[in-house]
Amino acid sequence: MTATTPGLVCSHHHLYSALARGMPAPPKNPASFMEILEQVWWRLDTALDLEMLRWSAMLGAVEALENGTTAIVDHHESPNAIEGSLDVIADACAEVGERINTTYGITDRHGIEGARRGLAENERFIKAGGQGYVGVHASFTCSDESLEAAAGLADDLGVGVHIHVAEGVDDVDATERLKGLTNERWLLIHGVHLPDDHELQGTIVHNPRSNLNNAVGYANPARFSNPVALGTDGIGANMIEAFRLAYVMQRSVDVSSSPDDAWSWLSAGWDLMPEAQSDTVTWSYDPMDPWHLAFTPGVMPVSVEVGGETVFEHGKTTRVDAGEVRAKANEQAGRLHALL
Ligand SMILES: [Zn+2]
Repeated sequence: MTATTPGLVCSHHHLYSALARGMPAPPKNPASFMEILEQVWWRLDTALDLEMLRWSAMLGAVEALENGTTAIVDHHESPNAIEGSLDVIADACAEVGERINTTYGITDRHGIEGARRGLAENERFIKAGGQGYVGVHASFTCSDESLEAAAGLADDLGVGVHIHVAEGVDDVDATERLKGLTNERWLLIHGVHLPDDHELQGTIVHNPRSNLNNAVGYANPARFSNPVALGTDGIGANMIEAFRLAYVMQRSVDVSSSPDDAWSWLSAGWDLMPEAQSDTVTWSYDPMDPWHLAFTPGVMPVSVEVGGETVFEHGKTTRVDAGEVRAKANEQAGRLHALL
């Protein structure tokens, strides 16, 4: 018994984080979201070079296809390997057969010059035909000047800004900082600590597993009037799992909610990357209906077609040898972990 759907979309991912799993424990056990950033992610991203990034992205793309996800909206940071990084990610995805929208998340944590180079990388990539947003890490790591520069560049390029917003309590003034800058093309990631009636425009991307993992609280995205989409925030690209978690988290605060809400959030990915609708995923389960999937574990793709080409079947990606990709990624993870 099989059923088909279009290719699923992961509306917020960090392909650079695929090599983080198994990394050495940080010097100090993080006790808050801010310390998780400082102790884990900001040590990891500064250690990345383009070769590590290539295999991290290849692994992430393979794992996406293995889960029926044919399109990824990626948010990238590698402060010591900025120039060309978006091409490395886009090329890795193209090699595997995964659709990609990627962006460099600028920050002033490494000085004004780091932010300027990040903006230049976004501009270069998009002007060369790459599919992307202008990326910003978050308003709490950027000056007003950098936020305005990112918004201005995005307007010039005809795209939105892809930015983390009010993920933790450290970013509660995001509403004030971003007021007047946003428009409907923006991607606002998390929004956990946004007020219900914030006036920011754009699609809010809810990342249930990540929010649970970082103990930042529940975004309760049903309270917003903005469109809502679903992402993983770098923890793989299994969107059926993300849907299931989104449903059960909503249910935990509202027993009258139905899986249709979380399914509509998953479906909003097709507004961000409509090309995934022409992809076909044949699943091991029938029917692929929210009321079934919310309670049915282990639903997996049998085959995946992207742009008419079969890129996954018989448990294997067809364009690349997944075993080889995992071996190379493991090798690069060893180099990365040694630096940490
Ligand atoms: Zn993120």
